[in-house]
Amino acid sequence: MNTSTGRSADAALDDVQLAAAVRAELATGAVRIHDTRTAAVRVDELVDGVLARDRATLGRALTLVESTHADHRGRATDLLAALLPHAGGAHRVGITGVPGVGKSMFIEALGTQLTAAGRRVAVQAVDPTSTITGGSILGDKTRMQRLANDPDAFVRPSPSAGTLGGVTRTTRETLLVLEAAGFDVVLVETVGVGQSETLVARMVDFFLALMLPGAGDELQGIKKGLLELADMIAVNKADGDNAQRAAAAAREYQIALHLTAPASPHWTPPVLTCAGLTGEGVETLWSQVEQHRRLLSESGDLERRREEQRVRWMWSMLDDRLLEALRTHPAVGKLLPELESQVRSGRTTPVSAVNTLIKTFLQD
Ligand code: GDP
Repeated sequence: MNTSTGRSADAALDDVQLAAAVRAELATGAVRIHDTRTAAVRVDELVDGVLARDRATLGRALTLVESTHADHRGRATDLLAALLPHAGGAHRVGITGVPGVGKSMFIEALGTQLTAAGRRVAVQAVDPTSTITGGSILGDKTRMQRLANDPDAFVRPSPSAGTLGGVTRTTRETLLVLEAAGFDVVLVETVGVGQSETLVARMVDFFLALMLPGAGDELQGIKKGLLELADMIAVNKADGDNAQRAAAAAREYQIALHLTAPASPHWTPPVLTCAGLTGEGVETLWSQVEQHRRLLSESGDLERRREEQRVRWMWSMLDDRLLEALRTHPAVGKLLPELESQVRSGRTTPVSAVNTLIKTFLQD
């Protein structure tokens, strides 16, 4: 295992294999993870390595954070507590769009422009579809090869194990670890499916929705909820024959956005066109993202957004912990199958089953 700060193909492969092994174990229900490296490395060593921006250690720290194994959770909590004072410095940007909209290519174009300008960029993929279907839309390791080989960039594929709550936790914690590792920009990529957009929008400073060019029918597919979450809409693939269609689509999105109240009085979400393939429009787009940061920092809105996100984080963690405690409570566990079957057959009402379960839980 290479422990230098430079990008090593071996290190990358090791991390990928390690993550795959963890996923395989979790998928089969064998929760014991035979990861001698993760188990052997002390938390303070992980902390030092992350702060020293050592890529191999960063990979291990993230694997620990992604693990759901009870022993690992305790160490992950210690790791995060130590890293938290060093986090918070990155520009957090969420990017969403349906599969095929060109997220991968766009992020490569944006990421390489940013690293060429001297910024350090991390990309994190969030793909809750994988928790439902077992297959991953974003997990493909061959995506973003150019960026993955850039010494100033770090691409972390989506962990595909766990529940939506688990994905939420992992995403937040991964973001903090990446920030502690000194990345200036963290791009959080997600698919425009299910709750993933809301999940990511609630963790970032800026939320970008990529759209396909095309008018009429396709536009009818825009979800009102997405317009409310987006800080910018960019019609992607606005190159060649698509340019005109993209401009027409942009005009329609502009109209649709006018009907939605902006989240901040200091920012009206713009609609732009761009092309990840040619890089066209990407620089202009980023200058607007930075403008947003400036305006919202000055007005105090950015800090308020982060304050709300921290409080929401506390509550979602509390929800998760309570649910976990309930599910793993021995007396509750004994009652559950019988009560569930009684509810199923109508012999007990859901209300009375819940009352019994909560009472049992609170008795100990
Ligand atoms: P993702 O699923 O959203 O990550 O989309 P990809 O980045 O994998 O791109 C999906 C397809 O669209 C690929 O075949 C790309 O070659 C193509 N594509 C991506 N960006 C552009 C673009 O800016 N212009 C054109 N014409 N094609 C693009």
